[in-house]
Amino acid sequence: MGHFHFQSGELFVERVSATNIAEQFDTPCYVYSKATFETNYNRFKAPWRDHPHRICYSVKANSNIAILNLLARLGAGFDIVSGGELARVLQAGGDVSSVVFSGVGKQAAEMQQALDANIHCFNVESSSELELLNQLAGDAGKTANISVRINPDVDPLTHEYIATGLKENKFGVNSDQVIEVYRRAAALAHINVAGIDCHIGSQLTELSPFLNAMQETLKLVDLLSTEGIELGHINMGGGLGVRYRQENPPAIEEYAAGLLQLLGSRELELVFEPGRYIAADAGILLTRVNYLKDNHDKHFAVVDAAMNDLIRPALYQAWQQVTSVRSNSAQAREYDIVGPICESGDFLAKDRSLQLEPGDLIAVECAGAYGFVMSSNYNSRNRAAEVMVDGDQVHLIRKRETIENQLALENLLPP
Ligand SMILES: *Cc1c(COP(=O)(O)O)cnc(C)c1O
Repeated sequence: MGHFHFQSGELFVERVSATNIAEQFDTPCYVYSKATFETNYNRFKAPWRDHPHRICYSVKANSNIAILNLLARLGAGFDIVSGGELARVLQAGGDVSSVVFSGVGKQAAEMQQALDANIHCFNVESSSELELLNQLAGDAGKTANISVRINPDVDPLTHEYIATGLKENKFGVNSDQVIEVYRRAAALAHINVAGIDCHIGSQLTELSPFLNAMQETLKLVDLLSTEGIELGHINMGGGLGVRYRQENPPAIEEYAAGLLQLLGSRELELVFEPGRYIAADAGILLTRVNYLKDNHDKHFAVVDAAMNDLIRPALYQAWQQVTSVRSNSAQAREYDIVGPICESGDFLAKDRSLQLEPGDLIAVECAGAYGFVMSSNYNSRNRAAEVMVDGDQVHLIRKRETIENQLALENLLPP
């Protein structure tokens, strides 16, 4: 965890002690490392060398505007899945001409918003979406760039909830219908066929599904070419996995070498939509142990973060490393790390050997992607604060929510 490291038995984020951050900003608190975002982005960017490419950070992985702004400054484009995410990119000063719009259920108003902003490309997922987009683009006096998202029926070998490229998934257009959709797109007056798109899932830890998906995509690229439909780009989506535990995801260099080899001499631009790769290990969730308790022979550490703050363990049975922020001399025990929510699904980790005392701080690692963005107000809990460490500086990038914030949108019935 490069920029999250131990110094004299204490966890530091870059040059700031996690204990100091908790004292200043309270817990639970998401803590990000700016240098880690930079390293991850530059690492993803490096191996394409002079092959034309565009990296569109997947906003849904972590959409805080400070993070979007940081990535925009590094030259990233953005992959959005809603009008709300487009508004965030605009607010963060992102380059709209490098925005691609994914998603199986784009609303007409969101498409209009994206047409008004002149985004780079719509990743179209059905023929009905294509027809609606053509009509809206015509009304707006514009031409919309599109790529068709194909469903290559490739098993990404990941958790079933984050597999998206199997024929039973709702995503993309089946290979046997793709050509027909492109023929129609090429005939529509307000559509410009720009590329082809494929995102088969998230947290992939094997190279072969990516290569299989690329092969399927290239077959279609070549077939379309024989029909006189020449594409400008291939969007391979995101999905490159990270190491939460013992996974061994392909290195970006391996991934790039594999894709470039399959691409051969074709001169299409490559587009990517990495989310987790950029954000996951750039953040931790800091939480404090409120109580230690035993039920029969089970030990529980009840902490002040809960499934509403970090739902990955409950939702995907995800495993994330948990560490004590400061070493102590308590006896090591196997703890379930649980939150205050009234649900047995409310856990952050199970069976972890830790030395804990009430009041201790612990860090849930690799929480930068699909962490805060999936948080909720369940049990009327205020969503956590988010801070970004930059060297020896700590910046508050999202205030802790207040109950007034939560209540502001609600009304009583008339008397
Ligand atoms: C979620 C998603 C991504 C990002 O996936 P990661 O696994 O975070 O890289 C990219 N593209 C699309 C279409 C997505 O739905």
